Amino acid sequence: MQSEIHDGSHPECAPCFAHKIHSLSWQTGEAAKRRAEDSTFSKDMDAYKRLRISGVQPKQIGGSAEIEAQATEKWEAEHGVIMRRKVRKEFIPRLTETAK
Ligand SMILES: [Zn+2]
Repeated sequence: MQSEIHDGSHPECAPCFAHKIHSLSWQTGEAAKRRAEDSTFSKDMDAYKRLRISGVQPKQIGGSAEIEAQATEKWEAEHGVIMRRKVRKEFIPRLTETAK
């Protein structure tokens, strides 16, 4: 007996055929592209907010999810790099002054 849910699994079934066509047009073309961009953007936006909260200032919102994904895996190392960069920024003028 066939399931009542027409999810494209019934052969020779009009509602299933319609479902297949619908999901195909949803997965390809502009709709899917827009959907992917939206989800990428909201991921980046969320990551950007979290990065900002943790004191990291990504140059732009785009790509923040990637930065965060890498940072989570090697957070200590990444944070160390960010700290060193900050520290260096503070110390280099002092060192230059001392050298005078
Ligand atoms: Zn069906």
